[in-house]
Amino acid sequence: MEGFNELQREILRLKAEKNALVLAHYYVPLEVQDVADAVCDSFAMAQKAARAENDIIVICGVRFMGESAKILSPGKTVLLPSLDAGCPMADMVTPEDVMRLRDEHPGAKVMCYVNSSAAVKAVSDVCCTSSSALRIARELDCEEIIFVPDKHLGSFVASKVPEKKFWLHDGFCPTHHRVREADVLAALRAHPGAVFAVHPECGEDVVKHGDLVGSTAEILDFARKTEAREIIIGTEGEIVARLRRELPEKGIYGVGSAFMCVNMKKVTLQALYECLRDEKYKVELPEEELRAARRSLDKMVNS
Ligand code: SF4
Repeated sequence: MEGFNELQREILRLKAEKNALVLAHYYVPLEVQDVADAVCDSFAMAQKAARAENDIIVICGVRFMGESAKILSPGKTVLLPSLDAGCPMADMVTPEDVMRLRDEHPGAKVMCYVNSSAAVKAVSDVCCTSSSALRIARELDCEEIIFVPDKHLGSFVASKVPEKKFWLHDGFCPTHHRVREADVLAALRAHPGAVFAVHPECGEDVVKHGDLVGSTAEILDFARKTEAREIIIGTEGEIVARLRRELPEKGIYGVGSAFMCVNMKKVTLQALYECLRDEKYKVELPEEELRAARRSLDKMVNS
């Protein structure tokens, strides 16, 4: 308990008392990450939720992450600390959009990014994360793929899997969409020896400059292993803060002014404390939606 503040100590006590597993996404505040049992990207979070044996799973992240945990562990109590922490990108696509795209492109299979609602997952063929999207697209048994909702991740995957035809929905992550090519070029000019690690949710004009294009976990791994002494990070600001703390001997730089996902920042220590204390907010999903969404998520987790 050394090094923790009073609220953090109370959270750790409640966690043990209630046999709760706390999973935190890398974008929530570092002080919340510090009291979690595991800090994960979306893929590891889904895997850990699927294998959890605890009575309660607390997802420190946005709504679709809580839904995914519930889909994969339907018998468990899944809690979200902040009810209004949604993902604007996930909200950009509806099941009706998916059905319309299916009508327009019969024969194509629907691949949905994990950043989507349970209702969208329920009408998709397979789900993917940024770390598994390329592999799943290559292995999917079809010649055409409808990719929802992220047009940036979709066009990155399409560029790497030219043997298939892609139909992209036009959603995007407002946080990563904010990264501008001019800021990347300015950062590269300011740090000529630096390498650039970027998330594929950024636009094509930004991603093309990446020495590494990868998921959050892949960016962290790259920063730890690269021999470069300076690394420019093209993803959410908490990753820059985490790497600065973890790798003080390296120069870690963000792109332009630090960009943050406001929704992830709603998961505060106070919210996590109240979540554990009052066992709120429970994620509930209609039975039919849960079953249908599980098919596409299971394929992702087990592929
Ligand atoms: S960073 Fe983007 S994709 Fe991730 S939760 Fe925030 S808005 Fe959604």
